[in-house]
Amino acid sequence: MSIAPETYRPSLKPYPPVYSSANEKRRLARRIERLLRKHYGPPPRRTHDAPLDVLVRTILSQNTSDRNSHRAFERLKARFTDWTAVLSAPTRQIEATIRVGGLAKTKARRIKAILSQIRRPCDNLSLDWLCAMNAQEAAKVLTGFKGVGPKTIRCVLLFACGMDVFPVDTHIFRVSRRLGLIPERATVKRAHELWDEFLPQGLAYSLHLGLIEHGRQTCFARRPRCPHCCLRGLCRYYHTTFARYMTSPG
Ligand code: SF4
Repeated sequence: MSIAPETYRPSLKPYPPVYSSANEKRRLARRIERLLRKHYGPPPRRTHDAPLDVLVRTILSQNTSDRNSHRAFERLKARFTDWTAVLSAPTRQIEATIRVGGLAKTKARRIKAILSQIRRPCDNLSLDWLCAMNAQEAAKVLTGFKGVGPKTIRCVLLFACGMDVFPVDTHIFRVSRRLGLIPERATVKRAHELWDEFLPQGLAYSLHLGLIEHGRQTCFARRPRCPHCCLRGLCRYYHTTFARYMTSPG
């Protein structure tokens, strides 16, 4: 049941909860997953795309909207027959093809550099063999590619290989800080390390998609819809910032 913001006046109980140990955060993450699943429905069925496709798609998604990065990827796939053709093409042609995704020059160079790096030892433009490794080994290989950070690595391992690893995107970073799962001042790299410490086993996929949905539909960067939020009872931001603001005199 949602509560109209104009009528809702929360009481200030001795709160907020401080989630300090990894066990407390793990329990909290499990409750969050259940609440998000109940509110937004179960996550879509898993499909396993080719690791190289996921890697390129994630590079294209940097600093742009989902819609534009999707369009850039579709254009790339339509324009070139395969990744070998992308590698053989002039960088300017790749850049023109993915322009709709923004930062085309940087992304075109990065994609080409990664393709030639893969080509060198394998003579075969595929990363399918990554999925036969364990998560640590596969992450180590991906770390060797220029411009590939922790989020991209985990997207490849989660979405292409079905591994239980957790990428922290911009929505998850914001929502995790507000909930009190990670400190306000944590960097994105630290946020990944912390999530690794308390991620409940088997819930990476569902939590990742659920928190992104929550960031898109409710916990906006500006003016989050706190009174309508299914996580408000657990949320540090809600109890420290939103509720205080709502109950302050005048
Ligand atoms: S209560 Fe507000 S800040 Fe907390 S998760 Fe919900 S929308 Fe975000």
